[in-house]
Amino acid sequence: MRLHEISIMESTIDIVLKKAEECNFKTIRKVTLKIGELSGVMDEALNFAFNELKNYSMLRDAELCIDKVKAMAYCEECKENYPIDHFNKLCPRCGSFSSQIVNGYELYLYSIEGE
Ligand SMILES: [Zn+2]
Repeated sequence: MRLHEISIMESTIDIVLKKAEECNFKTIRKVTLKIGELSGVMDEALNFAFNELKNYSMLRDAELCIDKVKAMAYCEECKENYPIDHFNKLCPRCGSFSSQIVNGYELYLYSIEGE
């Protein structure tokens, strides 16, 4: 069990409960998170934390959906985005190093569904 994911999930659930209240939801069906490939967060740990923490009446039947976001960088030379990973951030076309990471580090609540 990793503390990092638990604290992420605690703050996520705080937000979810607030949003649900704003929307007058009685039950939350689905919670979707966007997680960048490079965020360093583990899906299994998030799922585990979610199941541990969801014992609020409103969240009991909720499903956690983790939407992975592919890591991309922008090449100033080629004027286009290309996929990157932890070990290789060089443009596959021209070989230059990009400091403009477009996607991959995100970690946020994307949507909640309920009624
Ligand atoms: Zn390039």
